[in-house]
Amino acid sequence: MNCQPSEAPCIKICEHDAFKVLGGAITLDYDKCTKCRDCVEVCPIGIISIQ
Ligand code: SF4
Repeated sequence: MNCQPSEAPCIKICEHDAFKVLGGAITLDYDKCTKCRDCVEVCPIGIISIQ
């Protein structure tokens, strides 16, 4: 919860619309995620883990 959803770099960089904001929390839709890892690179606190 480091970033405001409107400013979150993971949401901005994802070309696959895989992030959603639910109840103020940023969530990841694994059905849309292609595991490109672009969001991993831009997360300022390195919290995103893509297996
Ligand atoms: S790894 Fe998945 S969620 Fe992250 S930017 Fe790529 S497609 Fe989007």
